[in-house]
Amino acid sequence: MSQQSEQFYAPMWTSLEEVWDEASVCTRCDLHCSRTHVVFGSGNPKAKIMFIGEGPGQTEDETGLPFVGRAGQLLTKIVESTGLSREKDTYIANVVKCRPPGNRVPTDQEMAMCFPYLRAQIQYIAPQIIVLVGATALRGVLGIKSPITKIRGQWLETPFNGAKAMPIFHPSYLLRNPSSAEGTPKWLTWMDVQEIKRAYEALMVNVS
Ligand code: SF4
Repeated sequence: MSQQSEQFYAPMWTSLEEVWDEASVCTRCDLHCSRTHVVFGSGNPKAKIMFIGEGPGQTEDETGLPFVGRAGQLLTKIVESTGLSREKDTYIANVVKCRPPGNRVPTDQEMAMCFPYLRAQIQYIAPQIIVLVGATALRGVLGIKSPITKIRGQWLETPFNGAKAMPIFHPSYLLRNPSSAEGTPKWLTWMDVQEIKRAYEALMVNVS
């Protein structure tokens, strides 16, 4: 699957609200069969930074909100440790909007079926910085299958109106590797988030 080759536009909707209206009742793929809630996204729809994860887990499915379980709480902590506010400065969404059963990785087909919603979210939110949270988000958004250990922390070009993207480790991986000693995944993620913050500050200087 290569979303990079797709033309970047959202022909079916005229606002983010319309995208949400359709996604909230979507049955485009089989993931709708087992979901409790469609988890569309949360945060500031005018944010310059957008975080994109893999898909909802159990807590997200129960609440309808992205990244609110243990992994989400850790992501929030990491983001807010830089001084950024998750709600004010970022928008958070996932590649698939419905929870894959047993938290399995979404298939390429499921990601492709759901991608028009994410593409439209990116179009309407128009972030300048996209943080791809984990290997599945990297594959689902840019079609890149490189190991996350090799590519995390690098700025990547996107087809989304000049936005640049950085892959980082998924917080669930960090929960399984809790050491924050130098060189560990947690330490590297801290470095990555500092770089994201620097890029954000540079962006805000140029905007003002
Ligand atoms: S995962 Fe996406 S495409 Fe599949 S049913 Fe949910 S909203 Fe629709």
